[in-house]
Amino acid sequence: MKSISIKKGFKLPLSGLPDISAIQLPEPETIAVSAMDIPYIRPKLLVKQGDLVKTGTSLFCDKKNKSILYLSPGTGRVKQILFGPRRKLIEVVIDLNKNQDKNEAFVKFDTLTLKTIKAVPRTTLIKHLQDGGLWQCFRQLPAKDTADENLTPAMIIVSLNGNDPFSPHPQVVLDNETRYFEFGLKVLQQLVKKIVVTCRKDSLTRLNGCKPFITHVVPDTYPAWDPGTVLYKLKRSEKENNSWCISAEHLVLVAKLLLDGRYPVKRVITVTRSDDKKPHIITRQGAPVKDLIGQMDTTGIITTGRFNGRSVNPDSHLGFFENTLNIIHDNDGDEMFGFILPGLSKPTVSKTFLSCLTSTPKDLDCTIHGEERACINCGYCTKICPIDLAPNFIMKALHADDIEDALGFGLLDCVRCGLCSFTCPSKIELTKLLSDGMDAHFKDKE
Ligand code: SF4
Ligand code: SF4
Repeated sequence: MKSISIKKGFKLPLSGLPDISAIQLPEPETIAVSAMDIPYIRPKLLVKQGDLVKTGTSLFCDKKNKSILYLSPGTGRVKQILFGPRRKLIEVVIDLNKNQDKNEAFVKFDTLTLKTIKAVPRTTLIKHLQDGGLWQCFRQLPAKDTADENLTPAMIIVSLNGNDPFSPHPQVVLDNETRYFEFGLKVLQQLVKKIVVTCRKDSLTRLNGCKPFITHVVPDTYPAWDPGTVLYKLKRSEKENNSWCISAEHLVLVAKLLLDGRYPVKRVITVTRSDDKKPHIITRQGAPVKDLIGQMDTTGIITTGRFNGRSVNPDSHLGFFENTLNIIHDNDGDEMFGFILPGLSKPTVSKTFLSCLTSTPKDLDCTIHGEERACINCGYCTKICPIDLAPNFIMKALHADDIEDALGFGLLDCVRCGLCSFTCPSKIELTKLLSDGMDAHFKDKE
C-alpha cells in the first residue's frame, strides 16, 4: 500500500460529520431517475406517463450514445415525467407498487461467474453493463463524462470515498459486500491492466474485508480522494490523462448486476447538518429527498455536496450519482459590524478569524459577505488548489475568450472541487467559471 502526498487542499474541521451506524428506511411511495446530476446527457425518453415498469426497465437513454441506458430502480407505474425550461428532462417519477418486497418484478439480465468472467470478450462485457444500465458508472477523466467504450484507458481509479468530505463511509458502503467488491476488481482486470484503489487515511482503521485490495492511501485533506487529484499525482505522461474512474459503491453494483442478473437498487446515503449527527441511511436509488432529510427549517438549503454539489428541491428525488445531502443554513441577513467580531465559529482559510486557533468543528453557511467583487490578486485560490492551478489566471484567460491560454494554464486538470470559490475573499465563482470553460471546450470537440 503506497501513500500519496497532497499538501494543498482543505483540512478545516467541519461540523455535521455523520454517525458510522446505519438505518434502513421503509420503502418510499415514489422513486425517480433524475437527469439533473448526469453530466453532458441529452436524454431521450423511452417510456410515457402511465406505463407499467419493472425494476430494470429502460426509462431513458442518452441521444449521443443510445446504448447508455438509465433503468427503473423499482416496480410500478410511471406517475409523472417532469420537464424544465425548453422541455429539458428533470426526472421520471415512478409510483412504487405497494409491498415492493413481495410484488417487485425484475428484468432478467445474463449472469457471469468467477470462472466465466476471464473468458468473456471485452465487447461482450461492456454490452452486458450497457444493457444493465451501469456502464455510466465508469467515468472518463478529466471531464468525468461516461467512459468511451472504444478506448482502452491507461488506468482505472477506484475510490472508496465519495466526492464530498462527508460522503458515506466505506465501512458502511462495503459492509457484507466484500465478495462483490472482489468480483468487481476481476471485471476491471478485463478492461485495463493498471488498477488503482484509493482510500482516505482515516477510513482505513474501520475497514476489514476490502482493506487488502487498497493500493494507495490518500491524506484526509479534501479533495485528496477525488480520482482527478489522484491521477494528477500519479500520472507520469500525457497519455495517462486518458484514464477512467469508478466509485467503490458503483463497482459493487456492477458486480451485483453481473453475478445476480438483476438491476441493483440499494444505495447508502448520508444526510449532514451542522447541529445533528445522523446515521447513514440505506434506501433505494432515487428516493425522495424529503424522506431522507425529515424536518427542516425554511431558511435551510439542501445541496448534494459541501463545496461542489447542486442545490435540490425537497420535492425532488436523489440522482443516480448522488449519495450525500447537506443541509446548510441560508444566512442571508447582513451581520452588523461583522468585520470587528472575532468569528470564533466561522471557518477561515486565510486566518482572518480567531477560529483558526481552535480545532472545534466549524459551521458552513451560505453567506457571501456582500456582492461579488473584483479580483484583488491575493493568491488564496492558488494556495488552496489541490492540483497546483492558478484559477485566477485561468479565469482571466476565459474572460478574454482565450481558450488556448486557459488550456495552457491547466484548465482540463481542474477537478471542480469548489475550494477556489470557497476561499476567494472577493466571492468570485471561480469553480463555475472553470467548469463552464471545460464544458464549452468539450462541446466544441463533439
Ligand atoms: S481550480 Fe478550483 S475547482 Fe479546480 S481543482 Fe483548483 S481549487 Fe478545485
Ligand atoms: S482568491 Fe479571488 S481575489 Fe484572490 S487571487 Fe484568487 S480570484 Fe483573485
